[in-house]
Amino acid sequence: MTRPSTRAKKEGLGKNLQTVIAIEELCWGDTGLLLSWPGQGLGNAAIDAVATEEQLERFGDKWAAMAITEPEAGSDTASITTTAELDGEEWVLNGEKIFVTAAERSEAVVVWATIDKEAGRGGIKSFVVEKGSPGFKLDHLEKKLGIRASDTGTFVLNNCRIPKDNILGSSEVKKSKTTAGFKGVMKTFDNTRPHVAAQGLGIARAALEFTKEKLEEVGAEFDYRKSPNNIKSREKDYYLMEANLEAARLLTWRAAWMADNGKRNSMEASMAKAKAGRAGTLLTQKCCDLLGPVGFSCRDLAEKWMRDAKIIDIFEGTGQIQHLIVARQFLGLSSKELK
Ligand SMILES: Cc1cc2nc3c(=O)[nH]c(=O)nc-3n(C[C@H](O)[C@H](O)[C@H](O)COP(=O)(O)OP(=O)(O)OC[C@H]3O[C@@H](n4cnc5c(N)ncnc54)[C@H](O)[C@@H]3O)c2cc1C
Repeated sequence: MTRPSTRAKKEGLGKNLQTVIAIEELCWGDTGLLLSWPGQGLGNAAIDAVATEEQLERFGDKWAAMAITEPEAGSDTASITTTAELDGEEWVLNGEKIFVTAAERSEAVVVWATIDKEAGRGGIKSFVVEKGSPGFKLDHLEKKLGIRASDTGTFVLNNCRIPKDNILGSSEVKKSKTTAGFKGVMKTFDNTRPHVAAQGLGIARAALEFTKEKLEEVGAEFDYRKSPNNIKSREKDYYLMEANLEAARLLTWRAAWMADNGKRNSMEASMAKAKAGRAGTLLTQKCCDLLGPVGFSCRDLAEKWMRDAKIIDIFEGTGQIQHLIVARQFLGLSSKELK
């Protein structure tokens, strides 16, 4: 999915831009299905970003989920309480991880845990825990509002033992109590947030196209040359939704383009995700509104798109957290200064 074609290379399309375009198309079909595609887990993005050559060799081909969230730690990742203690040649992990995407289907999970609670963010490291590791149990799967094709589950780590070399990153990062390791993995999100935004674009576009078709069947005319004084309310609503979708798409493409061109894009990636998450939620709701009973019936997909869209504003950082990241970058404030 992400290998650049010759044409794309010639036109300067990089891997991230290609990926967001491909994701929009796939999610025009189904977001849950995309998330169930082997090998594209968030854990894989983290492994690609920070693993050593040796770790890439061992884990590069495994489908890896990512387990950050805990019952008492979601948006505030620094408050993770899952612990990792070194015991001879093994790490021993203890804790609980909730809402893990691809919990059941993945082959390994990148688990965030602290090696020193006193060190705050500096103590947090990521560990590759392979399925079948002693003390590693998938406790249950969630029943969800949307993206039901994707499995989401809770893991319990009870004296879970993994090899010493499964801590991700360079030996310097592994030993250090600075935030280098934490920041390294957090940087993964600068690449993946535009991907999540693109999921929202796909869902919203599917809903918009379906709505347009249904409105035309009952006499709506979409003529962009009409004066604003002569358009009907439902047409105006539709044009506004189209503009919103386009704005979200342009933000997403910009963030992906920046990643492809080695430009720092934390702020732009968060802008894209915040906008696409919000637009996806509002647009799919408005579509159901305009569709009337068709939007409420399970015979068509409009209600499913509305349920699916909500997740874009939740995982990989909620909308509010994206706003916070944008505000911090914009104002030049640290996470301590603006909470
Ligand atoms: C289907 C699904 C799949 C998921 N997949 C994964 C996964 O693969 N791996 C993983 O680790 N996690 C995953 N998650 C968890 C998801 O990332 C978290 O739910 C999300 O980060 C929010 O954390 P929380 O649920 O603890 O909410 P909280 O952090 O408790 O937030 C609750 C509310 O308060 C708001 N809030 C929190 N802090 C602030 C603040 N400082 N300022 C303003 N508002 C704030 C939030 O925006 C939110 O609206 C998944 C969740 C779902 C539903």
